[in-house]
Amino acid sequence: MNKQEILDDDFKYIWRPFTPMKSLENPENKPIIITKGKGIYLEDIDGNKYIDSVSSWWTNTLGHANERINKVITNQINDIEHVIFGGCTHIPAVKFAKNIINLTNNSLKHVFFSDNGSTSVEVALKMAYQYQVLKGHSEKRKFIALKNSYHGDTLGAVSVGGVNMYHKVYKPLLFDIMQAESPYCYRCPMNCKKETCDTECLNSVEEILKSNSKEIAGIIIEPLVQAAGGMIMYPPKYITKLKHLCTKYNILLIDDEVATGMYRTGKLFAYEHAGIVPDIVCSAKGLTAGYMPFSITLTTDEIYNAFYVDDTDGYRTFYHGHTFTAYPLAAAVANETLEIYKEMNIEEYLKPKIAKFKQELEKFRKHPNVGDIRQTGMISAIELVKNKSTKEPFKYEEGAGKKIYIEGLKLGAILRPMWNCIYFLTPYIITEEEIKKLTDIAYEALTRVLPYKE
Ligand SMILES: *Cc1c(COP(=O)(O)O)cnc(C)c1O
Repeated sequence: MNKQEILDDDFKYIWRPFTPMKSLENPENKPIIITKGKGIYLEDIDGNKYIDSVSSWWTNTLGHANERINKVITNQINDIEHVIFGGCTHIPAVKFAKNIINLTNNSLKHVFFSDNGSTSVEVALKMAYQYQVLKGHSEKRKFIALKNSYHGDTLGAVSVGGVNMYHKVYKPLLFDIMQAESPYCYRCPMNCKKETCDTECLNSVEEILKSNSKEIAGIIIEPLVQAAGGMIMYPPKYITKLKHLCTKYNILLIDDEVATGMYRTGKLFAYEHAGIVPDIVCSAKGLTAGYMPFSITLTTDEIYNAFYVDDTDGYRTFYHGHTFTAYPLAAAVANETLEIYKEMNIEEYLKPKIAKFKQELEKFRKHPNVGDIRQTGMISAIELVKNKSTKEPFKYEEGAGKKIYIEGLKLGAILRPMWNCIYFLTPYIITEEEIKKLTDIAYEALTRVLPYKE
């Protein structure tokens, strides 16, 4: 197939994710045909190379075409590629479960497997509610979620979502939630200053709890980074205090680490920065270094034990599962990924890279359209504004992010914007020189679209 045939058939047959399909009539919006990957680079059909600045939808951590991982896949496929997880088990799943629990220092005790981030959230929500039922609190059927939150695209996950563009139209199909403020420090909903912030935005959670805690099963958050809502970042103390509120009002803390887990924030899970342990933790994106769909929902003995009884009446079983639950190929890759992280001494390995991003981000600060620069571990974001002093945002139709994306492609990086943010969420193996190169490309793309002379 030549390039034009591929694009024609793609356009004709494929309904693309998050894409207004008619916009693809414009040649500028045609997808890039990727034929290869190596390390942090993707290569298109014409041989152009791009830095994978978004880690192939936030999943890739060890680079493309990693030889060790490719080998594990081959070996595992020759043993057993897939088997029903009802009634059967397999070594990759058992090994992984034990390893991940050990890595949480046994503060979480049990693993439920599924195959993508959204389903790990569905598992968490159902588990939390059924736990309340089993404890004799079937009236605790509501969840608190935050504005600007994103937990996936299945209906339960959409119910707890808070990004209007993605979620609004489905509202009539969803269950009710109670929505609290977003801890959006740059645009603080309480009008507080960073320097004197006492997490006032948490008051909106406590207000809800004061009058409704008896009907609330739990609260779900994206720890430290509300990623798909616009790379919104907030301090660990928010989570520490939130955990206290959850205990005080007897609700569960569901921690959606689909994006932040697996060392993305510098630690295995972001909650560790807050010195607490949530009741339920979801993780997915980095689990298999970006090679296989795989996800987990971790929980405590307290929750697990509520289900661990003779199921005399038939409702003490967790009725949930997916065809590819604990997919052996993915579990084998996840084990190898953990092994590689261990050998790399991953937390130490990431420190100089995080510091390099921090240093390189500074060059953006002087640009008049850069409103905010934020970073949490291996996630960095630059929020663009029309006016720095009023923080007036660019309108979606103005497409500043998209124009920068197009310039970025010409310069050799995939800078897929997140609302008005340019962000870097690269594979961990990016070198310090490549961090400089990537941020230089982004700065050049920015100034081509929004000119600024020093
Ligand atoms: C991406 C994401 C999800 C959904 O994961 P999928 O694998 O795309 O279904 C859920 N929660 C968060 C925080 C995410 O970033």
